[in-house]
Amino acid sequence: MSDEIIRSEIRVTHRRTNVLTRWPCFICAGWTEKEGVLARFEDVEFPHGEHVVCGECLKAGADAVPARLEGEARRLDYRAAVLRAYAQARWVMPTYEEWETAVVKADEWLDRTIGEATGA
Ligand SMILES: [Zn+2]
Repeated sequence: MSDEIIRSEIRVTHRRTNVLTRWPCFICAGWTEKEGVLARFEDVEFPHGEHVVCGECLKAGADAVPARLEGEARRLDYRAAVLRAYAQARWVMPTYEEWETAVVKADEWLDRTIGEATGA
């Protein structure tokens, strides 16, 4: 944990973007909408890095940020425990080639089915 973060004031500002996509929210792990202005802040630890804040977190307001971050941290702690438990299992799964063959067969079945339905 960086002491620099703890001592920082995190200032969220607007930045125009022409990349209209959904961005993951740093605070709640939700997603932004596809909008031309991002609410974002500089990454304290990594120069030139930034994090995005979603509209729901903006709506909740700055006073709600610590609780939202703690909630997300608890969710990640739980997920880490689940992943570690799954890591102990013996995994059996198809090879990539088997999966790829199944995809091709499914596509062929879909093409035949559509062809029969449309007479093509
Ligand atoms: Zn959010």
